[in-house]
Amino acid sequence: MKTILDEAQLQEGVKRIADQISSHYFDRPITIIAIMTGSLVVLADLIRRLEMPLRIGLIQASSYRGGTVSGELAVNDQMMLDIRDREVLLVDDIFDTGKTLAEIVERMKSMAPKSVRTAVLLRKQGTQVVAFEPDYVAFTIPDEFVVGYGLDYEDQYRNLPYVAAMEEKDLEAHRSI
Ligand code: IMP
Ligand code: MG
Repeated sequence: MKTILDEAQLQEGVKRIADQISSHYFDRPITIIAIMTGSLVVLADLIRRLEMPLRIGLIQASSYRGGTVSGELAVNDQMMLDIRDREVLLVDDIFDTGKTLAEIVERMKSMAPKSVRTAVLLRKQGTQVVAFEPDYVAFTIPDEFVVGYGLDYEDQYRNLPYVAAMEEKDLEAHRSI
């Protein structure tokens, strides 16, 4: 696989958005809602760079029924927190078509939070189909299918400490696992 962001770059990117988030909220308490499972690793690194009081709720959203083609969005909110009157920061791994984040933002807004902002590790260049942009983006990347640092292909590769693009030969190698 072709590494596109190494560990040091990822740490710099996470620090950059953590600083932006800190200068927006200062010491006001926030509720982070992380979109599982892809945001697991960026969540762990991001929260350790934030100093305001914070709570963490989880929702699971999956638009990918295996493979690299986008499908319907399924949301599990059993580990969600009460966000009424709270300042909410949604965290996701990657902003691709934007449908996932746009839809989840709408769901959150229906729960009467004080505010909703969004942070993503990655944003793909030129693939968005919604009139919505995340507030915090650590990196904009070319339109390639990427794995690692939380991102998966068929539920694997989330543990890679770097972000890599999967090329055709990698997809073939994956089939033989
Ligand atoms: P969107 O709704 O098209 O923006 O897709 C967002 C979700 O699709 C992300 O939360 C990821 O789980 C998944 N996704 C999109 N692109 C990639 C990729 O390149 N690698 C792994 N997962 C991806
Ligand atoms: Mg995901």
